[in-house]
Amino acid sequence: PTNEAEVEVFSVPSYACQRRTTLENRNTVLTDALSLLAENAELSAEEGRGVAFRRAAAVLKVLPEPVTDMTQLRGLPCLGEHSLRVIKDILENGASSEVESTKQSERFKALKVLTGVFGVGAKTADRWIREGIHDLQQLKDSRQTLNRAQRAGLEHYDDINQPVSKAEADAIGEIVEEAVASVLPGAQVTLIGGFRRGKLSGHDVDFLITHPEEGREVGLMPKIVSWLESQGFLLYQKTTRNSYLESDDGPARPCSNMDRFERCFSVFKLDEDEKRRAGQTQSHHASAEDGGLKPWRAVRVDLVVSPISQFAFALLGWTGSKLFERELRRWAGHEKTMSLSSHALYDNTQRTYLRATSEEEIFAHLGLDYIPPSERNA
Ligand code: ATP
Ligand code: MN
Ligand code: MN
Repeated sequence: PTNEAEVEVFSVPSYACQRRTTLENRNTVLTDALSLLAENAELSAEEGRGVAFRRAAAVLKVLPEPVTDMTQLRGLPCLGEHSLRVIKDILENGASSEVESTKQSERFKALKVLTGVFGVGAKTADRWIREGIHDLQQLKDSRQTLNRAQRAGLEHYDDINQPVSKAEADAIGEIVEEAVASVLPGAQVTLIGGFRRGKLSGHDVDFLITHPEEGREVGLMPKIVSWLESQGFLLYQKTTRNSYLESDDGPARPCSNMDRFERCFSVFKLDEDEKRRAGQTQSHHASAEDGGLKPWRAVRVDLVVSPISQFAFALLGWTGSKLFERELRRWAGHEKTMSLSSHALYDNTQRTYLRATSEEEIFAHLGLDYIPPSERNA
């Protein structure tokens, strides 16, 4: 395809929720570069730039072949001047100077290390950096007051920053199933987040819990947590009411149900035994060979409880990817004058909530083709 007229021109719809994004990515060099710039922007409180880089990366993820020439990108959506410059740099020079200098920068490295502590966000990390704290040793020496999450995050830093395998996710799943079955027979546990999208590893494991009879899920989270605690499975947990006030979901807010929607951020203690029970035969982690004989690892786990009436919305909202979710909400707002959240879909024109008992129905309400979880990896 040397002739200009023969250059393959890709056609890609502009919203990620209109596209099928599998885990197969033929442009990882480019998407890794753009993702790193997105991450740096997000860590620097430049959310707009972060989203722009994420959108650009997501477009490249759906291209059927590796990009070799800038002309192939003509007419593609979401590729701004800045992203195009980065791509051009990589195609012409093998690397982007901006990406390389970001990677090397002391500030980026410090932000990565400090936000790697569970419970530490970009704002806290930034404050610490301004106080001269750039690494974990300096943090430990600084006598900063850490909250409970951050203390757990520091204590289990290496484990929490080690990717969770599918086998480990399955082992955690068995424990959660047992907990739920013990405290409320008939309640259902669904794996959500990246593992539902078919990822083979993740930074945590996410579960959605519901009961087929509306109302039976009320008060469930504390019972699950107590059971897990009594069995010694929890290194840390914080249960919160799911509050809409934290998000910009607007009127998609069925107030009467707000107090029923609970979540728990936790750190599980996963025994090697437990993993073997779940079918994993060997572990590369905490084995005798690294001298550490610790027969368990810490794993970040998120639990969400939803009433059955909101289950489809919670399932869709917690399966991700984060960009896919953002794009769904943008599509709903900009193209359909609707407000989508992980609780409900509100039609601002008709002034009514649109019911749904499956993800398929929600896509249909939104006028979108159904995209299965494995194709939401934008
Ligand atoms: P990973 O494999 O890295 O865990 P992931 O896609 O599972 O990737 P998570 O951060 O676990 O990423 O998030 C899973 C889903 O939960 C995402 O779709 C995200 O939108 C949703 N989510 C995460 N945090 C919140 C929150 N505070 N409020 C609402 N939804 C959230
Ligand atoms: Mn996850
Ligand atoms: Mn999560």
